[in-house]
Amino acid sequence: MSFRAPKGTDDVLPPASHTWRRLLLAWEDWSARYGYDLVLTPLFEATEVFARGVGEGTEVVEKQMYTFEDKGGRSVTLRPEGTASVVRAFLEAGAGGILKGAYSGPMFRYERPQAGRRRQFYQVGVEYLGSRAAAADAEVVELGYRYLVAAGVPGLSVELNSIGDRQCRPAYVRKLGTYLESRRDVLCDDSLRRLETNPMRVLDCKVCAPKLVEAPSPADHLCAPCAAHHEEVLTTLTELEVPYEEAPRLVRGLDYYERTAFEYVATDLGAAQDAVGGGGRYDGLAELLGGKRVPGVGFALGLDRIVLALGVEKEPNPLDLYIVVAGDRRKEAVRLASDLRRSGLRVDLDVEGRSVKAQFRAADRRGAAGALVVGDEWADGRVVAKDLTSGDQEVISLEEVQAWVRRP
Ligand code: AMP
Repeated sequence: MSFRAPKGTDDVLPPASHTWRRLLLAWEDWSARYGYDLVLTPLFEATEVFARGVGEGTEVVEKQMYTFEDKGGRSVTLRPEGTASVVRAFLEAGAGGILKGAYSGPMFRYERPQAGRRRQFYQVGVEYLGSRAAAADAEVVELGYRYLVAAGVPGLSVELNSIGDRQCRPAYVRKLGTYLESRRDVLCDDSLRRLETNPMRVLDCKVCAPKLVEAPSPADHLCAPCAAHHEEVLTTLTELEVPYEEAPRLVRGLDYYERTAFEYVATDLGAAQDAVGGGGRYDGLAELLGGKRVPGVGFALGLDRIVLALGVEKEPNPLDLYIVVAGDRRKEAVRLASDLRRSGLRVDLDVEGRSVKAQFRAADRRGAAGALVVGDEWADGRVVAKDLTSGDQEVISLEEVQAWVRRP
């Protein structure tokens, strides 16, 4: 019998996993630099957390959740996204003060699988909870941008909009409804349905949106406080040198979203899957989860799509040294590897007793920057150091290894 990974899921093995490891390490670094602490939540929650927190009536909740009854008869769901869980956890812990939380991990949605649209996919994200300040929105937008730039995503742009709040949105939605009524003939069936229940979600429809470029924009219908908030987000981003494009028809079609909505787009990805991440302000979410009103803003980035956007087939493994054992020096080589690893270098070696030639091949295959040959010179406390890029080699003492690794 042979098994395959479930439909819509992927194994990530070397060498592709070199890229994943780089992205995950960079994520821990960048999120910590901006002051976001690690938050871990369960991979599954009571179904209601997502039904409310992602929103009844959304595609994710209606069609895509992995929901099942556990042996205790509770309805549980594998998380389709991270925000609802983080907000649930914050409320459960008392929701005091401010939480700047960063998470990363797999999410699950029953999608029709294709490139960049998987049933298990990996997100990294942050939630900035407890602040209404425009500076929090700008910080969040900036962090995602800096991370994606550091990751090397080509053709990156930040698209940004404000969708108003509970004060100004109702009047806008009425105006939008009137416009959409006049365009009924171009709307798909889903959009016609949404026109009755929640017209803003029509702008979310990938099929209809391109035909609705004349639709009124929420950003043109903001009340004074929302307009001031939006203006401050934009000026702060300009000061922080984060390039952005105003995207008048970018919306989050759910009531708990307020004000800032944004997306990170990698123009090199195909149109349907061009978003490598998205986020926004969701000041109404905590209340929907049964808590007090806790403002929040955050984003989630899709690592599977980032990897696709990078388009790298094979990224080098950042191995500093491969130790080649010549003759009967296995024990010494193992000891040397241990010392160098403890000193902070990335080191590997062969333990199969293969020929020197085979070990050099392995060193190349592993993408090591250099090789140390433990052979006859060992008796004088020396090894042969070979630069695997240039092919240059020299005999160095063990004390010189660190300096040799750091050679320019
Ligand atoms: P969302 O939580 O739907 O706002 O998605 C945030 C980001 O996660 C998107 O911009 C994508 O990069 C990624 N993403 C969402 N759904 C999937 C999926 N099914 N497969 C791969 N990536 C996804």
